[in-house]
Amino acid sequence: MIKFKRHLITSALPYANGPLHIGHLAGVYVPSDIYTRYLRLRGEDVIHICGSDEHGVPITIKARLEGVTPREIIDRYHELNKKAFEDFGISFDIYSRTSNDIHYETASEIFRSLYDKGEFIEKTTPQYYDGEAKVFLADRYIQGTCPHCSNESAYGDQCEKCGTSLNATDLINPRSTISGSKPVMRETKHWYLPLDKYEPFLKKWILEGKKHWKHNVYGQCKSWLDQGLQPRAVSRDLDWGVPVPLPGAGGKVLYVWFDAPIGYISATKELTPDWEKYWKDAETRMVHFIGKDNIVFHCIVFPSMLHAEGSYILPDNVPANEFLNLENDKISTSRNWAVWLHEYLEDFPGKQDVLRYVLCANGPETKDNDFTWKDFQARNNNELVAIYGNFVNRAIVLTNKYFEGKVPERAALTEYDREVLDALPEIKRRLEESLDQYRFREALREALNLARLGNKYLADTEPWKIWKSDPGRVATIMNISIQISAALTVLTEPFLPNSAVRLREFLNIEPIGWDRAGESDLVPAGHVIGGGGLLFEKVTDEQVEQQVNKLLATREQNSNGKQDLPPAKDNISYEQFSAMDIRTGTIISAEKVAKTKKLLKLTIDTGIDTRTVVSGIAEYFDPEKIVGKKVSVLVNLEPRKIRGIDSQGMILMAEDTGGRLVFVSPEDDIENGSIIK
Ligand SMILES: [Zn+2]
Repeated sequence: MIKFKRHLITSALPYANGPLHIGHLAGVYVPSDIYTRYLRLRGEDVIHICGSDEHGVPITIKARLEGVTPREIIDRYHELNKKAFEDFGISFDIYSRTSNDIHYETASEIFRSLYDKGEFIEKTTPQYYDGEAKVFLADRYIQGTCPHCSNESAYGDQCEKCGTSLNATDLINPRSTISGSKPVMRETKHWYLPLDKYEPFLKKWILEGKKHWKHNVYGQCKSWLDQGLQPRAVSRDLDWGVPVPLPGAGGKVLYVWFDAPIGYISATKELTPDWEKYWKDAETRMVHFIGKDNIVFHCIVFPSMLHAEGSYILPDNVPANEFLNLENDKISTSRNWAVWLHEYLEDFPGKQDVLRYVLCANGPETKDNDFTWKDFQARNNNELVAIYGNFVNRAIVLTNKYFEGKVPERAALTEYDREVLDALPEIKRRLEESLDQYRFREALREALNLARLGNKYLADTEPWKIWKSDPGRVATIMNISIQISAALTVLTEPFLPNSAVRLREFLNIEPIGWDRAGESDLVPAGHVIGGGGLLFEKVTDEQVEQQVNKLLATREQNSNGKQDLPPAKDNISYEQFSAMDIRTGTIISAEKVAKTKKLLKLTIDTGIDTRTVVSGIAEYFDPEKIVGKKVSVLVNLEPRKIRGIDSQGMILMAEDTGGRLVFVSPEDDIENGSIIK
């Protein structure tokens, strides 16, 4: 490990408008907690910072929908999420919140400092204003028709149907979601962070200096920098947030992306008066743990702010994870497709470590990964119970049985004994190497390999068969087994902290320093161990079935229209209908449109021609799997350019209220170009 004087670990501030689920833990908090615990165990000077992100438009929208104040929303979810983190042993040194006074002060100071240096660009631009509600409308408060896909409920910042990023002015027939009225244009002044100006610095710092970053992170940064950066507004017209600290800026607050990362700084200030050494000393190493949706803010925007301010350090690494899916479907709060942490604990009380284990073993480190209850059960039963739990249980039970709990002296060692003892420092070294490189899955495998080694050692030496004939040999075997068990209390602790504490109780030992974990004499002969117990219990088929049924019920609820279906639209004439030329076709190729999440470029054989259609379905369909699919195509829709591609027509899709999409396909095979009427 490269030596630093101290470490500042931050975990993405969760947004205080909903509860936490397994995707949050797997993406950010399990890895950041493992890493921090590891550094602490090594005796490093480390602090772990987190808190609730409590500003921004989604919170005001949720409050409006529920008829409560934004304060009520953030108080509710701050408490709920703080408790969930504590329950799962996520060991922050502080879990703060961006509604605290100290954060308002800190965010204002940093804004002022950049303002005084002349870093911001001031721009007056026309923006939508709701004359009835007398407020400027944030993009999310405006809905209208998407100019790309004709979705009538596109938002002012994005069409969620085709995934295109929009400006509110792009929308056809815009309406205010606050009053329903048609918004008008008004001039308003805002401050912009000139990201384009920082491009040379960012290119040198990241593209040349951060080649060791994870592939996904480095690649995303490179692609943004290659595309070129634009100035970004740091303020907006809203009544919820940190007020812009300038005279005459009434009704304007800091944009949430500007204030949220400053939350790491204000939380550190709240934690310790000595905060500056963590933020302003080049011998501190800062690491941001985040999910992939936050890469741009932590690698481009926040470092630009800190660089422009001039007195802060920049992150050494940003080991962002990809996303976790649930039973082959995207985790979705609005569709309730998630395993909520508070619900997990109701169903599996005391089994926090099992979820931590599964989410780390299956962590989305380099690609999106899938959580399934079958896999949860298999990993618990086949790994935690059958390997780790089984080994330590046998070591403790046999030592109690043969030696009344007193750790026996080792006699002469066999070659096999030496091999086993020599493996201990080797496993420790590999585990450290993996953790130092943020490879948590690999590190966890090494930790389990230690238990695997012990399990195999007992199975090979079979002390229960030779107790009568060779008690001296059994003494050696049990001594070595207890040493391995003691090493497990150290090397598994970052991953499975509760189990490590219990195992120490079973062994009746105090915490052992990390550096000693590879040694052969962690527990001296003559030490009396405890009575033991079961470290892990089996997850039954019934438990798995119960969880799967819960998800099936959610899916059923999402798909059978229990949520409100929109009412029928106004009547149209037959002429209007027959003006649409809809044909059967076949998808002959499909590929993702670069740099978009939702768009697929499809080549369709429509019978009359072969044409390109861009469709917003990439999140639902694997391009490889839809080639050959029969579809219905609106062929006389006016062509449009979407992301520089000429899209000629539209594929008909059915969408349920839960947002699930399926193709509208002819039931029987029929030749391409057949008319749908
Ligand atoms: Zn659209």
